[in-house]
Amino acid sequence: ARDLARIEAARAPFRAHQWQAGPLIAVGVTGGEAHQVLNPADPADVVGQVVLCAAEDVEAALAAARVWDAPATERAAVLNRAADLYEARFGELFAVLAREAGKTPRDAVAELREAVDFLRYYAARGLDDERAARGVFSCISPWNFPLAIFSGQIGAALAAGNGVLAKPAEATGLVAHLAVQMLHEAGVPRDVLQLLPGHGAVVGAALTGDARVNGVCFTGSTATAQRINRAMAKGMAADAPLIAETGGLNAMIVDSTALPEQVVRDIIASAFQSAGQRCSALRCVYIQEDIAPSLTRMLFGAMDELTLGNPWAHETDVGPVIDARAQADFAAYLDQAQAEGRILHRVNAPETGHFIGPAVVQVRGLSDLKREIFGPVLHVATFKADQIDAVVDAVNASGYGLTFGLHTRIDGRVEQVTARLKVGNAYVNRNQIGAIVGSQPFGGEGLSGTGPKAGGPSYLPRFKTVERLESP
Ligand code: NAD
Repeated sequence: ARDLARIEAARAPFRAHQWQAGPLIAVGVTGGEAHQVLNPADPADVVGQVVLCAAEDVEAALAAARVWDAPATERAAVLNRAADLYEARFGELFAVLAREAGKTPRDAVAELREAVDFLRYYAARGLDDERAARGVFSCISPWNFPLAIFSGQIGAALAAGNGVLAKPAEATGLVAHLAVQMLHEAGVPRDVLQLLPGHGAVVGAALTGDARVNGVCFTGSTATAQRINRAMAKGMAADAPLIAETGGLNAMIVDSTALPEQVVRDIIASAFQSAGQRCSALRCVYIQEDIAPSLTRMLFGAMDELTLGNPWAHETDVGPVIDARAQADFAAYLDQAQAEGRILHRVNAPETGHFIGPAVVQVRGLSDLKREIFGPVLHVATFKADQIDAVVDAVNASGYGLTFGLHTRIDGRVEQVTARLKVGNAYVNRNQIGAIVGSQPFGGEGLSGTGPKAGGPSYLPRFKTVERLESP
């Protein structure tokens, strides 16, 4: 009840001036275009507005940027203080995550936890590495984890002593503002951490092609990472690192020894939680032929039990997709699949808001998927008992290598499959959801990312130079 009261209190519209970029940014904003933020579950709910940076704002930020030369112990203390503020002001963060990004309570809580864990983990790791910071990092983040990924990138770069130019995704500038406000309040100097909301083609491009930037930390689509890689090659020093976490075409293999109830629960969580808008989300499940009819029947039954709706409601399992364009894209994809007779099951979606009902589409294999479908759409293919190796080959052939799931109780099968597999994170007899900071680092191979894995011991050293500091 207390949570509900806090949620209700946080529903009031944000006053525009509270969210104007000016006072929160170390450099002045010249008055770029204002982006209206509408609630994806209810577009009549105007959440607030973000003033986007123009090219001259980025120029001023680049000129003002500097490394964070405070001692490592002080940087760690400030980052821990920021984590305390995130926790203390959870209600505000929750409200923005729900209203701006369409997060359900469960997703918002998990995201806040991850953001706090990232800050505390990198604060601690920053203490045990004496090498110098690289300089100034551009941190460019996606809208699907607008607090956790945003804070993780910034936390790592700052813990290592770098200055940061942070560019949040166009769709999620408000939660980024709130987070940066807390980081500043905790003690990160304003010229060390500058927030630059804006378009990828304007702000993102300017932050990845300039010699004053010493490294780029990017999470988003593979296509954007490739564009950034080309821009960096032209405009930045040859040794400036690109740390990229990108897309995936994630698969799961279910053989006939798997436990059906567990498989269905794990498929639902992996494919439809967060409305499928996770880089780790399951896109294609391969089911052994003999159990496919009974397993898919159970799966469709479980899908029909899902509650779609406003993320504010505690009973909601599946919230909206991010915006009208994403909704239209998925609707077109599913209409096409329908016309081809490949829709196996589809759940009805609420009429108001940007909802897509979870759907299951038949395919022959990953090779039939041409691109990452970043929403609540699961593909299903079947295989015969002697085709396991061929299925693994098909999974590898996509070129992506982010997450993978295996459900089996056959001795030796885990080794048989994982020995051939090229992915960053493989999950056995469980759902394939994300990272656990500190104990289960996250990151992909091939088209899915450059490494190192976020939330693991090799991450922070990439934000440092190779030389050790002279001892005093
Ligand atoms: P996106 O690539 O469209 O945008 C990501 C960020 O890049 C945004 O801030 C955007 O403004 C910026 N950008 C766009 N063009 C740019 C340019 N030319 N130069 C510099 N920056 C530019 O991705 P998205 O739609 O925001 O996020 C969804 C994607 O992110 C999916 O592909 C998903 O798989 C991926 N993702 C990966 C991980 C991971 O850990 N591997 C985590 C979350 C999301």
